[in-house]
Amino acid sequence: MGIYTRLTSFLPKQSCVLCGEQSTFCVCSECESSLNIINHRCLSCATQLSNDLHFCGECLTHAPNFSRAYALYQYEGSCAILIKKFKFDHQLCIGDFFAHKLQEKYQKIVAEFEGYDAIIPLPLARGRIQERGYNQTHELLRIIAKRSNILVDQKSVTRIKATRALSTLNLEERKCEIQNAFRAQAMSYKKVLLVDDVMTTGSSLNELARVVLKAGVRSCDVLTLARA
Ligand SMILES: [Zn+2]
Ligand SMILES: [Zn+2]
Repeated sequence: MGIYTRLTSFLPKQSCVLCGEQSTFCVCSECESSLNIINHRCLSCATQLSNDLHFCGECLTHAPNFSRAYALYQYEGSCAILIKKFKFDHQLCIGDFFAHKLQEKYQKIVAEFEGYDAIIPLPLARGRIQERGYNQTHELLRIIAKRSNILVDQKSVTRIKATRALSTLNLEERKCEIQNAFRAQAMSYKKVLLVDDVMTTGSSLNELARVVLKAGVRSCDVLTLARA
């Protein structure tokens, strides 16, 4: 028995939330391998690309306010099930699993490129936090905050408008709904990383980026767990 096997054999076993098999983490390694990781994405907005270009057509004509976007998984199949269970069924062990994966991704980004002065999670409306009991993005950033020397700034930007659920709206309605939803105090960071759980059209993160740049930040990138 190797040291790793000996060590993991002491870890408490639990059931995988997807298939019910005994597992060290609440997502077993087999179900984890079913999460769709797409490496070829638009450098600017992280949408999946089927050609060998670096940018999608949308970004070539209307570049977003953030410089680069990174995403771990494609928002579909078991990934979408896990995120919904985490967000709406309060299954915090899934948040813990994703927080470790997000930390691994973050380490790769900062090893390859220059680091950031701060991380800014997308602020949720207060009503939504009370409803859920926690802000899921803070849960996702827990391991990064613990293991890296990075400041997770939850104070400089606040949500001043509670928006309707964006998932029910089309792109134009989303843009309109999210406009002026955030307020930022002056910031002296050079480069920040904006973080959210899922990017669908990117309207919220694009608006957050606009507000952050207006508040004095020179450039910002985006990291999300999943990209639709
Ligand atoms: Zn499983
Ligand atoms: Zn793009």
